[in-house]
Amino acid sequence: MATATAESLSDAAREFASGPHGLVIGGERAEAADGRTFETIDPSTGEPICEVAQGGAEDARRAVEAARAALDGPLRKVSPSKRSGLMNTLAELIKANGEELAELESLDNGKPLAAAKGDIAATVNHLRYFAGWPTKVEGETIPVSARDVLCYTLREPVGVCAQIVPWNYPLLMATWKVAPALASGCATVLKPAEQTPLTALRLGELALEAGFPEGTLNVLTGDGETGAALVDDPGVQKVAFTGSTVVGREIGAKCGRALKRVTLELGGKSPNIILADADLEAAIKGSFQGIYFNSGQSCNAGSRLFVQSDLFDEVVGGLTEFARDAKVGPGLDPDSQFGPVVSEEQYDRVAGYIDSGLADGAEAVAGGSPGDRNGGGYFIPPTLFTGVSDEMKIAREEIFGPVLVAMPFDDLEEVARRANDTEYGLAAGLWTRDISNAHKLAAMLEAGNVYINTWGGGDPAAPFGGYKASGIGREKGHANLDAYLETKTVWTQL
Ligand code: NDP
Repeated sequence: MATATAESLSDAAREFASGPHGLVIGGERAEAADGRTFETIDPSTGEPICEVAQGGAEDARRAVEAARAALDGPLRKVSPSKRSGLMNTLAELIKANGEELAELESLDNGKPLAAAKGDIAATVNHLRYFAGWPTKVEGETIPVSARDVLCYTLREPVGVCAQIVPWNYPLLMATWKVAPALASGCATVLKPAEQTPLTALRLGELALEAGFPEGTLNVLTGDGETGAALVDDPGVQKVAFTGSTVVGREIGAKCGRALKRVTLELGGKSPNIILADADLEAAIKGSFQGIYFNSGQSCNAGSRLFVQSDLFDEVVGGLTEFARDAKVGPGLDPDSQFGPVVSEEQYDRVAGYIDSGLADGAEAVAGGSPGDRNGGGYFIPPTLFTGVSDEMKIAREEIFGPVLVAMPFDDLEEVARRANDTEYGLAAGLWTRDISNAHKLAAMLEAGNVYINTWGGGDPAAPFGGYKASGIGREKGHANLDAYLETKTVWTQL
């Protein structure tokens, strides 16, 4: 392992991060059929961590076949209560290996270790929540009109799933997908992002250690072509995707043509609204975390801030102070509050947006252009723009980095109209002490999640997903199980 950051890792994490890593297919570690590999990079240094197998179409086929073999064989024989037990065992194994997993996540993604630990705790909770479901998936008896007929429904696993996840919360996003699939009795092929494959590979190992039949959870590392080959494989019945709206549209179109089941969790440009009567201290602190947490790389980041005009200067002043004090550094440095962005590509992309904001005449009152990174890590300071109009690129497009645009407004109708003037509809937030305005505005906002006097509250039981171009379907909660189940109606002439 070349990267200097690795020196601070525990033995277990260092050993795993040394690689090289094969795919996890049918319980075995396998090289890619054509022997290709790629390097996963430490975003805190820009140096390689290790080599990982680059899956292709042939590997996608092998992984899907392994999943099908599990589904038609040993997995089918696992009772719901046993499946529940296996899921709880997996949760316990993740907890027991939590330190190692958090270090791997921090190394591969760049996020501060404390945040990575939070992701692992959320992962355990997610598995535990869905582990309660296998024994509660019930059909119905239907009171049909025909005489002497018994009509009932069965809920059956949809089949082999392709689950494609991004790099911002690698293990947690994988678990958001894997947990409901396992709870429903499906077998799955998980495709992690090329930037962050390590914890998904460890998850594949831990699922085997927990006792899931071989082939239940396969891990296919690789890039976008790998993901596309998996979506195209005719043996896949359901696709679950989290990532960009561009790729989501492509996957949705493919699934439409092939009539595969699909859920999509996509991007956002979420409005965060501070009304004149808000608890300002809480609003400023919450809004700061709402955008800059995870270095702005959250699909539900509050990236458009609307502040009632009278308070604008005070709010901007408070945010600027927080931004100035923020400690940006390597994820494994305990002093770091914010890590680097995930990759050179993402660094260039975010830096390009900052430059476009400056070129359009907006003012960076905190942060700004990160300049030359001199071959080091992908660090971008928390950046706050004022003097922004609704039409500017930085106010319209998802930046997915630590960049906030702040704009004043005067009344509720105006701010609701401007907040909704976007193709996205993932999240929206508002800060006020007036309960009537809170609910009035919450009803007016076109978003799958509305946060009142908080930002980003989440629980495995609470549905999460988007309106408009932010996605199709919901993750988390019992609604997510439906995406992994077919309904079979059985008619019996008595
Ligand atoms: P992508 O949407 O390209 O990637 C997300 C996942 O999809 C990755 O596993 C990726 O593989 C895979 N993938 C890429 N292309 C295809 C394809 N044609 N078919 C199937 N799978 C595919 O996001 P990026 O990583 O390129 O990030 C670009 C932008 O997307 C960000 O700046 C941000 O705006 C948005 N984004 C949104 C996320 C969200 O949570 N809503 C998460 C991540 C990004 P691989 O990475 O290996 O190429």
